[in-house]
Amino acid sequence: MNVISNHMPTAELQALDAAHHMHPFTDNAELAKTGARIITGADGVTLTDSEGHKILDAMSGLWCVNIGYGRKELADAAARQMMELPYYNTFFQTTHVPAIALSAKLAELAPRDLNHVFYAGSGSEANDTNIRLVRHYWAIKGQPEKNIIISRKNAYHGSTLGGGSLGGMSGMQTQGVPVIPGIHHIDQPDWWSEGGDMTPEAFGLERAKQLEAAILDLGVDRVAAFIAEPVQGAGGVIVPPSTYWPEIQRICDEHGILLIADEVICGFGRTGHWFGSEYYGIRPHIMTIAKGLSSGYAPIGGSIVCDEIAETVANGGDFNHGYTYSGHPVACAVALANLRILQEEKIIESVHDTIAPYLAQKWQALADHPLVGEAKIVGMMGSIAMTPHKESQAKFAADAGTVGMICRTRCFANGLVMRHVGDRMIIAPPLVISKAEIDTLIERATKALDETYELIKADGLY
Ligand code: PMP
Repeated sequence: MNVISNHMPTAELQALDAAHHMHPFTDNAELAKTGARIITGADGVTLTDSEGHKILDAMSGLWCVNIGYGRKELADAAARQMMELPYYNTFFQTTHVPAIALSAKLAELAPRDLNHVFYAGSGSEANDTNIRLVRHYWAIKGQPEKNIIISRKNAYHGSTLGGGSLGGMSGMQTQGVPVIPGIHHIDQPDWWSEGGDMTPEAFGLERAKQLEAAILDLGVDRVAAFIAEPVQGAGGVIVPPSTYWPEIQRICDEHGILLIADEVICGFGRTGHWFGSEYYGIRPHIMTIAKGLSSGYAPIGGSIVCDEIAETVANGGDFNHGYTYSGHPVACAVALANLRILQEEKIIESVHDTIAPYLAQKWQALADHPLVGEAKIVGMMGSIAMTPHKESQAKFAADAGTVGMICRTRCFANGLVMRHVGDRMIIAPPLVISKAEIDTLIERATKALDETYELIKADGLY
């Protein structure tokens, strides 16, 4: 067989891909008909494909490449660590310097008493850890029946059996999950889709109070924890009304329920703070981390755990849980180099003070487009809801996602990656995007919206 490389014709690579590669979250038979886009390189915020197209990546890959593509420092850190110690585990009373250094760094960056890190290979695995960790914690405290975890519909917490059971996206819930008993879902704080006649503030309170009702209904002595993303990402960048998180915090405090903030997307600067919990002023007992921890340069995730839980578990005998790649030395070294860049180059300060306000101003102006009902943004994650009728917030007369898919295709054609969730378009660009690149992003997004508008008018959908 020929050596498979970037130099092969696109069609041949696509044929091999279709023959042997099963893509995640994809209708593989459909994809085989058109062929996958082949990304061959990237630099800064720009991808290059096998046809030489340059595409502005307004999604940071999968919300992860926070420091942008092509940072040699991370490649050097990985190479150095591979030569020194490519692998050793952290089971059985051993450790290594990259895991020690990264844990100490994360304890320094994380708020309050979140001082202890349990590593995983991904966000999904970290949430699986969280399920076992909080149940084990309450069992050690003599309350093994306090084991129900409350989550939300349209949440995303991963694709493993545990993460998938915690999550609440309808498309996933019908394929093999939920399988974990003891998980209860309440409604999400999506005012645009579900708020009806309520003000956002009243709706936010109402949705938060569902947590209290669920706790009282299930029994305080049965509920272990509540898990939520500060801003729902994969669900469509659903920004909760301002009343939501303060009420959730009050309820968790009052009833002694552990709060798990899934920071897989919101962590490491996405909101203009180190963690989304700081943006909303919430005080989680555990934070799930992944993605921006290494800017996606190496697979690594974990749970940052508060003193009380870590100490209780430490004094509870063996915690029979762990992954071969928990605290993988190369991934830890890459994550450390990434955190150093975020800190030394003051990237999060720049997002907070300059880049996020600039992006917000431009993004919110998209609400004037005839197709756009609402434009929401927190830091460097934004969404626009498309609608045929702004006032009534109506849905299109086509399956949800039809118009979103058209718009996504128009984005690609105009050199822009935006993702669609139903008929919402979402962005989460690298934190290092410049003002000029934001102008290009908005220009291309506007052109894609204009073209979508013309196409759906021609199809009678508007
Ligand atoms: N939690 C959240 C909030 C996420 O957005 C994701 C991934 N999109 C995950 C967990 C799962 O992370 P991973 O894909 O690394 O398993």
